[in-house]
Amino acid sequence: MPAHLLQEEISSSYTTTTTITAPPSRVLQNGGGKLEKTSPYLEEDIRPEMKEDLYDPSYRDKEGPKPKFQYVWRNIILMSLLHVGALYGILLFPSCKIYTYLWVAFYYFASALGITAGAHRLWSHRTYKARLPLRLFLIIANTMAFQNDVFEWARDHRVHHKFSETDADPHNARRGFFFSHVGWLLVRKHPAVKEKGALLELSDLKAEKLVMFQRRYYKPGVVLLCFILPTLVPWYFWGETFPHSLFVATLLRYALVLNVTWLVNSAAHLYGYRPYDKTINPRENILVSLGAVGEGFHNYHHSFPYDYSASEYRWHINFTTFFIDCMAVLGLAYDRKKVSKAAILAKIKRTGDETYKSG
Ligand SMILES: [Zn+2]
Ligand SMILES: [Zn+2]
Repeated sequence: MPAHLLQEEISSSYTTTTTITAPPSRVLQNGGGKLEKTSPYLEEDIRPEMKEDLYDPSYRDKEGPKPKFQYVWRNIILMSLLHVGALYGILLFPSCKIYTYLWVAFYYFASALGITAGAHRLWSHRTYKARLPLRLFLIIANTMAFQNDVFEWARDHRVHHKFSETDADPHNARRGFFFSHVGWLLVRKHPAVKEKGALLELSDLKAEKLVMFQRRYYKPGVVLLCFILPTLVPWYFWGETFPHSLFVATLLRYALVLNVTWLVNSAAHLYGYRPYDKTINPRENILVSLGAVGEGFHNYHHSFPYDYSASEYRWHINFTTFFIDCMAVLGLAYDRKKVSKAAILAKIKRTGDETYKSG
């Protein structure tokens, strides 16, 4: 069967995809403020349990001088050491054993999915539902990726969407490429991030035992799954040298996954077209999509954060959607939210930058 037919088959015949067409007619009130009934960001969103990632255009930065950066030296030193180790890993990379390449590829994709399919599309945005075996895999994969626990990741990410590109956005891209890429992790949070983050509705995360379990045992979990396991397996099972195991399979692989994820916050907020909404900064960036397994369609994603594909399309440069669809075939993922074509075209007409190519 040709790939596009197979994709249609899998996308449509397992009937749990919810197509989003009818706008809810209620005013939402929550900790971060009130979204007006007329806000275009409320249209077509039918997730009953979650509204905390919808853009609030009414929020403005406070006037006056900006607070000075307060450096977190521990993070600066550890991040520098990691990247020096990863650079050495690049030198060792050509001389790895073949199984080590396979192991690195497996660890790269699994930990990336722990972020994209897990922390991002499932837990931050609730764009689909997952049964326990899939959530178990995702929480383990997420711990392999070591980017803060799911609870903290989702809280930071919801304020990023809600107060995008203001002081309350943890990686505010208006503060430049470096700040939105990694700099934000090396300084204390802006007071507005703490203030708005504390007001967010996070009860869905607090109620999920698996998420709270990961948070409780996060440190030992990370030491084991992000560092010890990926180093010991190649060394023990196929006699890889210890330096290759440590510098390539662990440090280089970890730094790579970190950087491609960060590119979503930096490059995809700066470079690319805005076919869906030219009034916001996030952009469509194919290169970021390639590295970040489908997360570079960022103008679309900020326009429709409730779409499980984080893109207008499904399997187009989007390994994460392919993975979620495969899980749906197995019955492990369901209730995938997809925005209707009509709603997308209406948005393009209303606010697009006229670069949209249909077809
Ligand atoms: Zn973003
Ligand atoms: Zn998002």
